Amino acid sequence: RLHLDNFTKRFDGNPVIEGMNFVVEDGEMLALLGPSGCGKSTTLFAIAGIYRADGGRILFGDRDVTNLPSQRRNVGVVFQNYALYPHMSVEENIGFPLTVGRIRRDKAEVARAVREIAELIHIEELLARKPAQLSGGQQQRVALARALVRRPGILLLDEPLANLDARLRLEMRSEIRRIQLETGITAILVTHDQVEAMSMCDRVAIMERGRILQIGPPTELYRAPVNRFVAGFLGNPP
Ligand code: ATP
Ligand code: MG
Repeated sequence: RLHLDNFTKRFDGNPVIEGMNFVVEDGEMLALLGPSGCGKSTTLFAIAGIYRADGGRILFGDRDVTNLPSQRRNVGVVFQNYALYPHMSVEENIGFPLTVGRIRRDKAEVARAVREIAELIHIEELLARKPAQLSGGQQQRVALARALVRRPGILLLDEPLANLDARLRLEMRSEIRRIQLETGITAILVTHDQVEAMSMCDRVAIMERGRILQIGPPTELYRAPVNRFVAGFLGNPP
């Protein structure tokens, strides 16, 4: 269970997120949905420990991780641009998180973990390639495999489908959801695409200018939007 308790973030003194509160239950996938610049990535990066919080607390279960560095939070992150290492093979990319940090695995262990996750994500046949030899969808799968290889407690996805064409986007929507359900991992999906959020996630949080306007299951947001912004943003104006 992930809990943001009165989380606040400022850049150069300007508040970007002010007193944000939400909970993601174990095994749940939550969407952070909102227009460009509303603070979605900032929230995700703070949960990952890439940004420091300026106020409030971030809790993983009973563990207060607010002041822990990223490596000690046990989160997997997929960035919008995938950020694969171009000089490494797919196998080395996926295994990389297991070869750095405090707990280092031996070669055989790394190879076994990489193979397991590659099977889950259906990329066993790509392990010897370099990222430049992959399609956008395949790079996306590799980034997902790398995020999951340490068996993190939480998976954080920042616009993972933004760089894909329409057909691949559809395919990867159900693939990401399948993998999330199969692993039972708690996940947050950041997106500005209503259909993506509504079709992939258990609950959706609608954000505007650093605040959550409404949070709930897709059907509830459609049926009872709290205001015109939410209704309009979901393409269901009153
Ligand atoms: P998008 O959908 O375009 O990715 P977003 O919802 O992810 O938008 P954020 O990247 O979280 O938005 O940015 C929220 C606000 O914080 C924006 O006004 C942005 O300009 C500002 N901001 C983000 N990162 C920084 C930074 N490193 N320094 C200063 N301001 C920043
Ligand atoms: Mg963003």
